[in-house]
Amino acid sequence: MNDYGLSIWGNSNFTIDGGGRVCLNTDFKPALIDMINDIRQDGIRGPILLRFPHLIKKQIVEIYSNFQRAIKEFDYNGNFSAVYPLKVNQYPGFVKNLVKIGNPYKYGLEAGSKAELLLAMAYNNFEAPITVNGFKDKELINIGFIAAEMGHNITLTIEGLSELKGIIETAKERFKPKPNIGLRIRLHSSGSGAWAKSAGINSKFGLTSTELIEAMNLLKEANLLDKFTMIHFHIGSQINEIHPLKKALTEAGNIYAELRKMGAKNLKAINLGGGLAVEYSQMKENSLRNYTLREYANDVVFLLKTISNQKKVEEPNIFIESGRYVSANHAVLVAPVLELFSQEYSEDKICLKKTNPPLITELYDLYQNIKPTNALEYLHDSIAHMESVLTLFDLGYADLQDRSNAEILANLIMKKAVAMLGNKQNFSDLSKIQNEVQERYLVNFSLFQSLPDFWGLKQHFPIMPLEKLDERPTRSASIWDITCDSDGEIPFDIDKNQLFLHDIDIQNENYYLGFFLVGAYQEVLGMSHNLFTHPTEATITLKENGGYEISDVLESQSVLDILEDMDYDVYEIRDTLNERIEKSELVDEKQKKHILGELYLFLNDNGYLKTIG
Ligand SMILES: *Cc1c(COP(=O)(O)O)cnc(C)c1O
Repeated sequence: MNDYGLSIWGNSNFTIDGGGRVCLNTDFKPALIDMINDIRQDGIRGPILLRFPHLIKKQIVEIYSNFQRAIKEFDYNGNFSAVYPLKVNQYPGFVKNLVKIGNPYKYGLEAGSKAELLLAMAYNNFEAPITVNGFKDKELINIGFIAAEMGHNITLTIEGLSELKGIIETAKERFKPKPNIGLRIRLHSSGSGAWAKSAGINSKFGLTSTELIEAMNLLKEANLLDKFTMIHFHIGSQINEIHPLKKALTEAGNIYAELRKMGAKNLKAINLGGGLAVEYSQMKENSLRNYTLREYANDVVFLLKTISNQKKVEEPNIFIESGRYVSANHAVLVAPVLELFSQEYSEDKICLKKTNPPLITELYDLYQNIKPTNALEYLHDSIAHMESVLTLFDLGYADLQDRSNAEILANLIMKKAVAMLGNKQNFSDLSKIQNEVQERYLVNFSLFQSLPDFWGLKQHFPIMPLEKLDERPTRSASIWDITCDSDGEIPFDIDKNQLFLHDIDIQNENYYLGFFLVGAYQEVLGMSHNLFTHPTEATITLKENGGYEISDVLESQSVLDILEDMDYDVYEIRDTLNERIEKSELVDEKQKKHILGELYLFLNDNGYLKTIG
């Protein structure tokens, strides 16, 4: 059975039932397709983003329990805290659930801008920490002070000395409660992978050792040294190897010890930033992450204990800000297939003439006589024949009917051959042929809106059909979205993405693809290319009796809302359309009324396609 690499990327969150359907891997194993059908019963069409709060909970519990276990195991004297960085996903359908689930752990929020900080101040659990990273102006610093005055446990992390000066000035101007101060350190060790720019000598962020000393002096002078509680670093997102993290942590541990010795007596925490990686690969050969959370927690606790003991300083509290690891799993985008491009290549469309060019007759013979023992040979022959027919066509020696027959026959032979050869025989060039004969699946979603990191970074996301997993998929597939941009394609890729899908008759059956691990970064980075907006979303909560509840269904924005977001005057649009219809001399009054009614419906509906899917 093809499990689409579920055992590699699935994190035990999903399973396939006896009927070949993707299910949640919970006690009662509800099928995703049932959820989609329930939601569609209310007339909703187009792509649907499913949110699973139980998968948010699973990640949070995993993080806390691993660190708590490691702390116990190594008899570590510091404690563990974590915050969720809002930039990874700020959608309310996610954040509100996260905050609720994180409450017993005092799981906090990290903010990187004024808007995120204000959001954190409104939603963060009481007593849970808030950290603020990123560049700050006087206003942002002021908001941080207001958070402290409200009673939030907030730490402003300084990215540069001018920010520290801003804080010192603000502290003089404002009321008694003050935020804690963190210093972001600039490490000489850097991260790895596509996001490695966050650390290293040339990174965008952090204080050099000279600046750290200067910062200590400034804090002392301003009588704020007791507010300096944390040092912070972040070596980048999706850290696939543990080694760079260990190097950075060693460096940070030593800086912590030095600063303590210099008199930073309230410096009690090291914040390792985010970066815990998610396994996105569907093929074993391409798997990315080389460590487990257990190993990560053990390494962090053990290293910090060793350094503190060596340098004879108090063991620091451990603080992390991983976002991708917490949010990626919780969301699955489900989108209907609208069309298979080679569907027109069916046997009944072959229209042989009384006398055909010899190549066509041969193609027909190949098609009639292909069997497993000769499939590869016939496949090669058919591709060569079709190419010859195309050449003849260009030279004027074959007509359009000949060409159509050749294309249909070659396509049917490929289909048969691939099905016959299957996975049984490992022909080295079979995958090459599959690459050539890939079927294009047109899918009702926008890659720019829902998988922007595929477009921008070629980040792979697991894709699998929600049903038919008990049937062998025979078509090597490339995915086309409905934007009219040629970048809106996920190609069949022999090395990275060998996606096989089923040969389906889309006129008579629905076929849905699930795009997994899309809960981190994709939603807010998504762009409205062609004016396709955030898909309809729904939250699925599991009930104790085995059922599930669908809630918070938010339909994709209407066309008018999108235009309004872009600052169009929607009244002007409506009036102009109205006027133009009124003035039309091609239709009578009754027809005008009808047309206007239709137009209003379209304007108030979303722009995704409605045909079948
Ligand atoms: C982006 C960011 C994070 C989150 O990184 P993930 O890879 O999503 O865990 C944490 N801390 C800081 C400072 C960041 O900029």
